[in-house]
Amino acid sequence: MIEPTCSQHDAASVIFNLPDYHVIDAIDLPLGGRRVVVRADTIADACPDCGVVSQRVHAWSRQRVRDVGHAGALEVVVLKPRLVCAEAACSRRTFTQTTSQLPLRSRCTTRLRTAMLEAVIDHGRPVAGVAAGFGVSWWTTQKVVDAAAKRLPDVDALQVKYLGIDEHRYRTVRWFKDPDTGAWARVEPWMSTFVNVASGQVLGIVDGRDSAAVEAWLTSRSKEWRARIQVVAIDPSAAFRKAITTCLPAARIAVDPFHLVQLANLCLTHVRQRLAQQRHARRGRKVDPAWAHRMLLLRGYDTLSPRGRARLEQVFATDDPTGELGAAWGVKEGLRLLLHTTTLQAARQAWTRLEDWVEAADTDETRRLWNTLNVWWSAIEVFITSRVTNARTEAANTAIKHIKRTGRGYRNNEHYQARILLRSARRTCGAAH
Ligand SMILES: [Zn+2]
Repeated sequence: MIEPTCSQHDAASVIFNLPDYHVIDAIDLPLGGRRVVVRADTIADACPDCGVVSQRVHAWSRQRVRDVGHAGALEVVVLKPRLVCAEAACSRRTFTQTTSQLPLRSRCTTRLRTAMLEAVIDHGRPVAGVAAGFGVSWWTTQKVVDAAAKRLPDVDALQVKYLGIDEHRYRTVRWFKDPDTGAWARVEPWMSTFVNVASGQVLGIVDGRDSAAVEAWLTSRSKEWRARIQVVAIDPSAAFRKAITTCLPAARIAVDPFHLVQLANLCLTHVRQRLAQQRHARRGRKVDPAWAHRMLLLRGYDTLSPRGRARLEQVFATDDPTGELGAAWGVKEGLRLLLHTTTLQAARQAWTRLEDWVEAADTDETRRLWNTLNVWWSAIEVFITSRVTNARTEAANTAIKHIKRTGRGYRNNEHYQARILLRSARRTCGAAH
């Protein structure tokens, strides 16, 4: 026969499973539910003033704490010792024992705080839902998130050489009525993120996408931090450029290639739509080859299969009598080739070739694109030589949008910003290992 190797209390402790604690009592409460009394396995702690370890108990106190969910309503009470300082020279007489599961003044176990943080940050669940799930108040959960955000590394202490700034819209413009003043306020639908391009970590978020918003964040960094920035990757935005030349005069600006290709794609789409209006006096339809293959037109030629290439040629042969669609497509491809070059010499050759194609295309749309590219030419050169892009910022934005939506409209910006920074810090930290 197999002998049980533990007592009843030990079995309860095994089930309760709070590290370094054991159950000393468990009773049914008269109004339903149960109360579990636990105590630390070892009664010893260092005095917070002198550091000398004491095991002498002065008195015991009982404290109710919050813990992770257990089957049935469970009240957890901790029996805490107040210890006498063992150092005669110390002015402190007594102090309360702290443990890793119950740090100083904590009313939640560490495992509950960890579980709440994982639910909010890693699984992107809304704070209110997590609080309800663990049977604690909204504030208790929010405080856990805020406390974790305070432990985030100081941005000024991070060594950032390549910075990415990216704007994105996370929802449509909304208005809300301030319950106190009754005034209507606009909820900013845009925000700008600052990312360490090397690691992909989000360093900061500001509401809006004007130069004032970006400048405010940059000027609150230390002088040394700003001096370290060598290249800043941005969308083709004049507001961002102004903010960088004002706050980071030594940094070079690289324009993000993804956004330039987007501009060229938009230009091609405008040409296609105008041609459809001119030819058919209506919008494109499935019967029009250019409309049917509109996505194919936007794909990079080098990524197309032989079948795709044949279809594309068919579009130009059957649905482009003026040759303008093919010319605008050529300009788009010319820009893509330019952005694939890796030396300044090759880039300048591609630039001259592109200029010829723009002249040959001779449409308003392609001329407008060419003007924009000219404005950003020096920033294109910086991208060609540095290859610093916002590609990793884009990935962060998807997560940010999700956080924004689960929050159902954060009134307090610090709350959602804390979540975004935390999620990003945890992600990039995990990727480093
Ligand atoms: Zn002491």
